[in-house]
Amino acid sequence: MTAANRTTPRILIIYTGGTVGMVYDDVLGTLRPIGFKEIRDNIPEIIRLGYEFQVHAFNPPVDSSNMLPQSYIELAKIIEKNYHQYDGFVVLHGSDTMAFTASALSFMLENLGKPVVLTGSQLPIGEIRTDARENIITALEIAAARRGNKSLVPEVCIFFDYQLFRGNRSKKYNAEKFEAFYSMNYPPLAEAGITIKYQRQFILKHPELPLKVHKKLNQDIAVLRLYPGITQTTVDAVFQTPNARAVIMETWGSGNASTQQWFIDSVKKAIKSGLIIVNITQCDGGAVELGRYETSKYLQEAGVISGYDLTFEAAVTKLMFLLGQNLSKSDIKRLMQTSLRGEMTTD
Ligand code: ASP
Repeated sequence: MTAANRTTPRILIIYTGGTVGMVYDDVLGTLRPIGFKEIRDNIPEIIRLGYEFQVHAFNPPVDSSNMLPQSYIELAKIIEKNYHQYDGFVVLHGSDTMAFTASALSFMLENLGKPVVLTGSQLPIGEIRTDARENIITALEIAAARRGNKSLVPEVCIFFDYQLFRGNRSKKYNAEKFEAFYSMNYPPLAEAGITIKYQRQFILKHPELPLKVHKKLNQDIAVLRLYPGITQTTVDAVFQTPNARAVIMETWGSGNASTQQWFIDSVKKAIKSGLIIVNITQCDGGAVELGRYETSKYLQEAGVISGYDLTFEAAVTKLMFLLGQNLSKSDIKRLMQTSLRGEMTTD
C-alpha cells in the first residue's frame, strides 16, 4: 500500500540528538544525550495521535554543534530510502545549528513532496517546564497533515514555539527564549494555537516531478565578516584561504562595504584569481541591493554577486550544494542569484 491510499498517517522520526534528548549528568556536571526510548517515555501522549511511527536514531546522538555536511548527507539518504513508505518526516535536532541542517536539506531534496519538519527544544525533555512536548507533538501533526492525497507542507521546515518556518529562511536568534527562531524575510508557513493555521499562499507548491536527492556537498568556502577597522592582512588572508572557491562576504546594510582603495583592490584581485564572492548583509532583515549606494556599486562592478536576502545559513549550505554539483563557474554564479527552493527574494 502506498502512503497516498492509507488513512493512518505514517511518520518517520529521525532522532539526531540535541537538548531535546538530554539529561543532566551529575557526575559530568553537563547535559548528556539520551536514547529515543527515554524521550518517548517522557511524552506518552504521542500514542494518542493514532499515527504509525518508526524511529531512526543517530548512534550516538549528537549535540548539533557536531553536525557536519556528512550528517546532512546521512539525513538525506535516510529520507530517500524511506520516502515512499512514510507520509512525513520529523527530525529531532539540536537548535544551535538546526537552521543550517534545514537549509542544506532543502537544497539536497529537490522536488520534495512531503514534509520534513525539524524541531527540538530549549529545555531538555525531562524538565517540568520543557518546550519539547509541544514542539514534538505539533511537528508530528504537521508532518501528517494532508489535503486530499497531498501533503499540506511539502517543504523542509522548522517548527519551534508555535511557529512553522521555511527551513532555509530560519535563524536561531535567541539562546534563552522558547521562541528561539525567526524568519525575518519570509512569513511563517503556519501558526499553532487552538488549531494549526496553515498559510497556504506562502507554502511551496506540490512538485509534479519525482524526488531527486543530491548527495554531494563541497566545503571549499570561506567567510569574510566585515567590521570597521578590518585590516588588509585579515581580508587578504580570507581571500587567500587555500582551496576556497567561494567567499561569503558579510557586508553592512543593503550590501555596503568600505571604499578604501586597498579594500577595492583586494576584492578585484580575489575575483581575478577566480574566487566567487557572494555579498550578504549582516542585517537579519532586508536584502542586499548592489548599486544602491556608491559603497556597493563598485563591488557590483568588480564582479561581486548579490545574495539578496539569503540568511547566512542558507548562503553557506547553498554554496556547498552548488559547488558539489560539478557546475561551471558561471552557472554557480547564476544559480546563487536564483531562488531554487524559496530561499531568496530576487525582485
Ligand atoms: N547545544 C544544543 C544543540 O544544538 C542546544 C539545543 O539543542 O537547543 O544540540
